[in-house]
Amino acid sequence: TTRDPNQSEFQEAVFTVLDSLKPVLKKHPEYVEANILGLLVEPERVIQFRVPWQDDAGKFHVNRGFRVQFNSAIGPYKGGLRLHPSVNLSIVKFLGFEQILKNSLTGLPIGGGKGGSDFDPKGKSDSEIMRFCQSFMTELQKFIGPDLDVPAGDIGVGGREIGYLFGQYKRLNGFQGGILTGKGLQYGGSLARTEATGFGLIYYLNALLKDQGDTLKGKTVKISGAGNVAIYALQKAQENGAKVVTVSDSNGYVYDSEGIDLAVVKQIKEVERGRIKEYAQKVKSAKYYEGSVWDLDIDYDIALPCATQNEINKKQAKLIVKDGVKYLAEGANMPSTSKAIAVYKENKVIYGPAKAANAGGVAVSALEMSQNSERLSWSFDDVDSQLKDIMEDIYQKSAAADKEYDLGKDYQAGANIAGFEKVAKAMLAQGLV
Ligand code: NDP
Repeated sequence: TTRDPNQSEFQEAVFTVLDSLKPVLKKHPEYVEANILGLLVEPERVIQFRVPWQDDAGKFHVNRGFRVQFNSAIGPYKGGLRLHPSVNLSIVKFLGFEQILKNSLTGLPIGGGKGGSDFDPKGKSDSEIMRFCQSFMTELQKFIGPDLDVPAGDIGVGGREIGYLFGQYKRLNGFQGGILTGKGLQYGGSLARTEATGFGLIYYLNALLKDQGDTLKGKTVKISGAGNVAIYALQKAQENGAKVVTVSDSNGYVYDSEGIDLAVVKQIKEVERGRIKEYAQKVKSAKYYEGSVWDLDIDYDIALPCATQNEINKKQAKLIVKDGVKYLAEGANMPSTSKAIAVYKENKVIYGPAKAANAGGVAVSALEMSQNSERLSWSFDDVDSQLKDIMEDIYQKSAAADKEYDLGKDYQAGANIAGFEKVAKAMLAQGLV
């Protein structure tokens, strides 16, 4: 806290992990002796740069760009780029830190990193987005490489932005397929990458439910967000027989007691790039409300936050408990405050933390890297079935750590421990670097 006094998101992420690791450190004094934790919380490298760009009216702007290369003990840095006005060093560090253990949990050889900019893509034209992405990549390209650091998308960075970023990288360095993931299918992208985080969330949830002797069939589900993660979580939850009754954006949410119509959400968000409010204009059974979906008081079974960090506070967590929710799995990164998580645990809500539950996106990104190295493309079913295996394995590893350390169905601590042990062993083997 004295070193980074203004980095509250980063501190929150670090303290939560350190707290879970206490029993591991007791069992493995060699990690303490080698100061693995001291190394783990300090990024290997932080890059910050300015991003000048011009809008359609000819006005000049300057944003701030970041890339945090956090840990490369088990592979090249891997993690998304976020474009959102809230982006600052604390947020990029929190996301990069989480990414280390998440990537480890996937079982694939990828280290942890994250980046982005405080640029706001909302309301910008395609040309403005392109000019921004070109300027951002002109600087970032000096620091990344297929075996060094491979960025991907995150909030505000989807297929369009990856395309512009890739184009600029190629202009400066020649075609290198493995430089970014989340690419278009025409130039080295992987089938099932778009769906991966949302589908992966449901595969993880299915494994967790199965272990409790339960299934998704017939369950009522609340989803927040209406972006990449939310849309594909919605699709897969419906395919598994659940009824999803909400989706949201940062202005408000829709409640559709008949169950959200996936095709309408896709049309508004993926085709028209519109606001979720428009759903209620198109679907009679739905109502739009301003504010947070977590303040809506209805009876339901499963909560899937898929929007952003800290979207559920303590009061909202209490409402989740009151509304009868038995399971909560996180599609977004750190959507629950630590006080909200304490409420879940006190009330025996079975909690699937982000770094396990939403690891599907980065897992398929790593599969995209493999395909780029092989210069081959795998079928949708092949990638999807590998994703399913990876998500089940993540659940099993977290549950095994929970059992080994007798944590009482604490899959958050289980995921932290399982992710940490592989990284710690690799760091120990590589010495003080
Ligand atoms: P998108 O930009 O596609 O969508 C984000 C969604 O969340 C939008 O609907 C957005 O609404 C909404 N949102 C943002 N801020 C708020 C807020 N304060 N309150 C309510 N809603 C809000 O991003 P993704 O779907 O890709 O990412 C969502 C989350 O999942 C993030 O936490 C991200 O880090 C995480 N994640 C994403 C992965 C991926 O593969 N895409 C992988 C792993 C994690 P609006 O349009 O109003 O901004």
